Formats: sequence, structure tokens, C-alpha cells
Amino acid sequence: MSARLLIISSIVTVLGFSGVCGSIMLEMRRSAQELARQTQENLASTIGADINRNIELYDLSLRAVVSSLALPELAQVDAKIRNLILFDHSVSAKHFGPMQVFDPTGRLWLDSATLTPQSVDRAGEEFFRVHVEQPDLGLYISRPMQHRGTYSVVLSRRVSAPDGSLAGVVAGSIRFSYFKDLFNRLHLAPQDVIAVVARDGTLMMRTPFDPGLLGTNVMTNIGIDKLLGQRRGWFSGHGKIDKIGRMYVWADSSRPLIVLVGRSWDDVFVMWRQEALRIGAILLVLAVIVAGFTVFFIREIDRRADAERRLEELATTDGLTGLTNRRKFDLVMDREWRRAVRSATPISLLIIDADHFKSFNDNFGHQAGDQVLVGIALCIADSAARAADCAARFGGEEFAVLLPGMNATQSQGVAETIRRKVELWSEGQAGVTVSIGVASMTPAPSQHWSVLFEAADKALYAAKDLGRNRCVVAASRADLNLVA
Ligand code: GH3
Ligand code: MG
Ligand code: MG
Repeated sequence: MSARLLIISSIVTVLGFSGVCGSIMLEMRRSAQELARQTQENLASTIGADINRNIELYDLSLRAVVSSLALPELAQVDAKIRNLILFDHSVSAKHFGPMQVFDPTGRLWLDSATLTPQSVDRAGEEFFRVHVEQPDLGLYISRPMQHRGTYSVVLSRRVSAPDGSLAGVVAGSIRFSYFKDLFNRLHLAPQDVIAVVARDGTLMMRTPFDPGLLGTNVMTNIGIDKLLGQRRGWFSGHGKIDKIGRMYVWADSSRPLIVLVGRSWDDVFVMWRQEALRIGAILLVLAVIVAGFTVFFIREIDRRADAERRLEELATTDGLTGLTNRRKFDLVMDREWRRAVRSATPISLLIIDADHFKSFNDNFGHQAGDQVLVGIALCIADSAARAADCAARFGGEEFAVLLPGMNATQSQGVAETIRRKVELWSEGQAGVTVSIGVASMTPAPSQHWSVLFEAADKALYAAKDLGRNRCVVAASRADLNLVA
């Protein structure tokens, strides 16, 4: 397996793992968001139902007052009985303010809390004026307002005379203590927000309580129409004051007051984030392990390739001269021969033998003989230096050079260069010379390269016979003509 393949498969493995983990994490994130949305929607629905049920109940009492005021008998009973007829016990419940009836001029006429109402004029108050200006308004829910030190919301209805003219206004209030009680029963995270919004976007109540925001339009960014257009839904927004990003969910926008439950995105994804960090850490460890193994195996592959290269070198190189050995030379010969057949190009072979080497050894010793062999090898390698040339030691004092693409004349030139180089080099060292047999041919497909060998060998014998220290070129055929 190559190092590149190993690196690619490691990267693919890590990327594959990352892809799978990434898609799992995205799915988990989507689930966390969906779960938060459902939880908040349930909360908004429950709170909304409670608030609007209480408004409905209070409105029922207001309607009862309006219809009872139309009874003609009411004028004949005394004030105590009249109050008992008009105001049921629900108006005295914990979080409800007293119910009051105002005459058409806005002056307080009847009060559920007392038989002797104070003389107050509310003609200028909005809860009164809206019924003068809009006779068909029905139930009016005021903005949150401070009354005797406590916040409350006023609810009012018009009392009409039989001819449709204004006969008065009946009004009552829901104190903020009701909302506070309601919200205190919930277990909310520190960054959770619950907002009660009127149908025009006015903030009626909020937890955490913030008097500065009460009565302002908090839907300026998102638009109240979005809430009114969809019964239930959610949007992402930022707190007006704390600037915290939250998911705001509403559950039933058909009611008079709409409840929005906001949870910070940090809280929505807190569990998911922990899980994502855990998976991310595992993935990182995995990637480091894979990288470690990859580096280890690449080093191992390099080490083996190096060892193989060295073994190959040892197996194909002659130990004394560093030239190619016979085994390797035969392989190169086979390959180049077939190439020459295919391309119909000439190929040449030189066989080189040191002259009278036995007597050199006898005279100067085997070690000196070895030095000479190294010198001859250098002369040969120097003269046959093209990439395709192959110089080999055949054994003993015999060498061969393969010259692909060279014809007889060119290869004779190379042979002559070698001969002269050896002659020159050894001039000062007992004058060793070489004889060279040269064979060159453009091989036919049916021929084996041994033909070239035999020809070169014969040429070498001819060179020896002709007196040594010379090159002889053979014709390519077996019955070659020797050329001195
Ligand atoms: P010719 O000119 O006919 O080639 O004579 P020659 O003496 O070179 O031929 P021969 O084949 O009779 O002798 C070859 C000699 O080469 C024999 C041996 O002493 C010597 N020889 C062979 N291999 C080595 C070697 O590896 N190192 C050394 N120093 N000498 C070697
Ligand atoms: Mg020999
Ligand atoms: Mg010899």
C-alpha cells in the first residue's frame, strides 16, 4: 500500500466520521430546538388559558352588572339590596379590584366596595372615554396603570340606555398580584421571560417584572401582525434591555391577551452543547489516533521501501566496481532488446576483457588487480553515461556495455573511447589494456538477444587474436564478418 493511498484513506475515514457525527449533532440540535418549542408552547398555552379565563370570568360579572342595571325594579330597592343584585361575590376575589359604575358624565355612581361611593369624576380616563367614542367596543382592557401604589389592568364595559345612548360605564380591575402569583408558581430559568401582550402589541405584564417596559409596544421589531396571523408559532429575537437572544413562543393568539414565553438560546441548547462537545472531543481523539497510525505506517512503509531499495541495489550491483551485475544486466538486455524489436531501432553490445590479467595478478598481487578492475569500471561508466546505457561487470576481468539506439559506427566510437581511456589511465600503472568486441544490429522479432552476445563474444576473440588492446566490430549475423 502506498503512502499516498494511506493518507487518502485516513483523510476519508476522518472526514467520513466527521460527516456522520456532524449530521447526528445537527439532528440533535434540531430535536433540542423542537423540544424547547413544544415545552414553551405548552407553558404559554397554560398561562394564557389561566389569564384569559380570569378575564372572561370578570367580564361575565361586568356583563351581569350591565344587564342588571337595565332592570326597572332596581330603582325601587335600597342601596344594600341593589349592590347585592348588581355585584356577585367573584368581584371580591383576592386579585380583583372593586367594581364601579359611572354615570354618563363620568361621575362615580355605584361601588361594589361601599354603599356610599366617593365623589370622583373619571370622564377624562381612557377606560371611560373609549366607550363614549366607540359605542360598540364591548370589553375594554386598559394599559397597565398604577393605582394607589399597585399596578393593575382596568376592564370596562359600556352601559347603554334602551335608545342606545350612553347610560354609564361599568369598570373593574385585575391587580398585578394575580400575575405575580401565577408566575411565582412556575420554575423558570434565570434568563426565561414571560410576556403578556395585548392585541395591539402593548406589554401588559412581564416576568422578570420591569415597570419601565409596561405599557410600551414591545412588538415593534417582529410586528404584532405575525402573532395575530398565526394561532401558534415562534420567532427568534433579542431582549430589548438585556439583548439576550431568545426563542419566543406563543400558543393561542385568538385570545384578548397573548402570552409569549421566551427562553434564551443558550438554555435551549445547553444539553445539546455538552453533548456536541463530548462528541467533538471523541472525534478529535479519533482523528489524532488515525493521524498517529497514519504517520507510523507511512514511516514503516518508507523504512521498508528503503530497505527494499538497498536490497535491490545489493542484488543488482557488483560489489567491487559498483557496476550493474550479470543478473540485472540480463534483465535490462531482455527489456531493451524487445524495445528495439518494437521500435525497429539498432542496439549495440560491447564485451570488454582485460588483457593478460592473469600475469598482472601474478606480478602485482590480487589486490592491485582489484584496484585496476575498479579503474577500468570507472573508465567504462564514464564513457557510457546516457540514461539508457547499461554497464555491467560480468565476472572476473570481463565487462559488458549495452548501448540501446546506437548503430555499429556509434558504438565503435564508444568502444574506442573506453579502450583509450583505460590505456591512458593505466599508463603509469603497469600498462593494463582492454580488448573490446563490438556487435550492433537492428533485431528482427524472431531473433533472441543471445545472437548479439555471440557476435560480440566472437568479435572479442578476434580482438584478442589480432593482438589485444583493440576494438573489433562484428556484423550482426551469426556468420558475421569481422572488421578489424
Ligand atoms: P587474456 O588477455 O587472454 O584475457 O589473458 P588473461 O590473463 O586476462 O585471461 P585469463 O582468462 O587466462 O585470466 C583471467 C584472470 O583474471 C584470472 C584471474 O587471476 C584474474 N581475475 C579474475 N577475477 C579477478 C578478480 O576479481 N580480481 C583480480 N584481481 N583478478 C581476477
Ligand atoms: Mg577473461
Ligand atoms: Mg583477460
